[in-house]
Amino acid sequence: MYELDTIAAIATPPGPGGIGIVRVSGPHAIALADAVFRRRRSGSWRSHQLYAGQLHDADGAALDAGLAVVMRAPHSYTGEDVLELHCHGSPVVLDQVLRTLLARGARPAHAGEFTKRAFLNGRLDLTQAEAVMTLVRARTADAAHTAASQLCGGLSAHVLGIREHLVRAKAHVEAQLDFGDEDVGLDPEALAADVAAARDAVDALLANTRGELLQNGLRVALSGRPNAGKSSLLNALVGADRAIVTPEPGTTRDVIEVNVDVGGVPVTLIDTAGLRDAGDAVERLGVARAEDAAARADLVLLVLDTARPFAEQAALVGRADAIAVLNKCDLPARWSAADEAAVAAAHPCVRVSATAPLGIDALRQALLARAGAEWADNVPPLTSARQRAALTHVAESLRAAHASLAAALPPELVAVDLQAALEHIGTVTGAVTSDDVLDAIFREFCIGK
Ligand code: GDP
Repeated sequence: MYELDTIAAIATPPGPGGIGIVRVSGPHAIALADAVFRRRRSGSWRSHQLYAGQLHDADGAALDAGLAVVMRAPHSYTGEDVLELHCHGSPVVLDQVLRTLLARGARPAHAGEFTKRAFLNGRLDLTQAEAVMTLVRARTADAAHTAASQLCGGLSAHVLGIREHLVRAKAHVEAQLDFGDEDVGLDPEALAADVAAARDAVDALLANTRGELLQNGLRVALSGRPNAGKSSLLNALVGADRAIVTPEPGTTRDVIEVNVDVGGVPVTLIDTAGLRDAGDAVERLGVARAEDAAARADLVLLVLDTARPFAEQAALVGRADAIAVLNKCDLPARWSAADEAAVAAAHPCVRVSATAPLGIDALRQALLARAGAEWADNVPPLTSARQRAALTHVAESLRAAHASLAAALPPELVAVDLQAALEHIGTVTGAVTSDDVLDAIFREFCIGK
C-alpha cells in the first residue's frame, strides 16, 4: 500500500480559462476544505454537493469566489476523501490556492497520482487507468471513442471472459491431478475446448492493431521533386488550403507539419522541400531537412509527376519504404508502360490528381493498409504496448498448453502452462502487478490526473 498523505494539484490545463479546478485527495481533504473555503452556510459537508463560497489564503485574504465539492470515501474518483475547488481560471489564483493547500499540509501530487490511487483502491483496473490517459491524449474522435469504451470496461470485460475459460481449464486439470484415473466425470474435450477458446480470443485481440494506431498515430512524410504536387496533395488530404501552393519550383522550403484524421487515425503529414540536387544554400538546407523528416517518418508518400518525363524522377524510386503517388492523372501522361512498371515493382502505387481531386480516398486506404491497420469491430482494441506484451505472453502459454494436450502429455505440464497464462492475463487488468510496472504507467500521466 501507499502512504496515506493528502495530495493536491491543479487539474485544469495551464493558462487563463473560464474555470480552473484544484483537486485534493486523501484523509485531510475535508479539513483542508474547511481551512481554505468559507461557505455561505456552515455545517458538515454533504458528499457530492456543490457549495458556493469564498477561497482564502492562510492569512484570511480573499483569493477568489467559487464553488467547492467534497466527495467522501469510498465514493470518489480515488476512493479517498476528495475535494475539488472550482475557481475562476486564472493561473495566478490557481497557483495561490494550491500554495495555500500546501502550506496547510497537503503534498504536491505526482503525475498520474490521483488515477494511481484510484487503481490501488480498486476504483479502476489497469486497462481503465490507462484509458484515462489515452482519452485525455486522443487526437481524433475514433481514438477518443476507443479510449472511452476501454474506460467503461470494454477491454476488461473481454479479458475477464477469457480468464474464465482459463480458470475452468485449470480447475479441470487440477481435478485430473487430484483424482487421477478415477471416474469423476471429467470431459477432456471440454478442457481442450476451453484452452482453444481462450487461445483464439487472445489471438483475435492481438490481431487487432487499430487501437494502438489510433493512439500513436502515424507520421507521414511527403517527398518528391519540386512541383510534383506535394503541397497540393497535402491540401487534398487535409481538405482545406493549409499549405501554400505556388507554381514556382522549390517554394516549399521549410518543413510543414499538419495533423489530419485519416479513417480515425491521427496522421501527421510532413511536407518537405523537394529531394533533388539543391541549387542554392536555402534549398540545400530544405533538402537536408526533407531527408531528415523522411528518416523520422513512419511512412513516405513519394509524389511523382506523371505529366513530366519519368527519367528526371527515376532516381527517387526505390529509395525508401514509400507509397508511390502517381500525381496529375488529370493531365496527359508522359510515362510509358515500362516507366509505370518500374515504379510498381518498387512501391505500391496509387494514381491521383491532387488538384481535381481524384483518387484521394484510395490513397487514404493505401496509407492505412500500409500502416498495418487491422480493424475488427467485435474485438475491443488494445491501446498500449504493455497490454500487447502481456497478451503475447498469454498466447505463448496457451499455445504450449494446447500442444501439451494434443500430445497427451501429463496434466502437470498442462497445469504449469495454464498457471503461466493466468498470471499473464492477470497483469492485463492489474490483478497481478508490480511497483515498477505501476510507476512506468503513471509517470506518463499529467499532474492533476
Ligand atoms: P510541390 O512543389 O511538390 O509542393 O508542388 P505544388 O503542390 O506546389 O504543385 C506545383 C504545381 O502543380 C501547382 O501549380 C499545382 O497547382 C500543380 N498541381 C499539383 N497537383 C496537380 C494535379 O494533380 N493536377 C494538375 N493539373 N496540376 C497539379
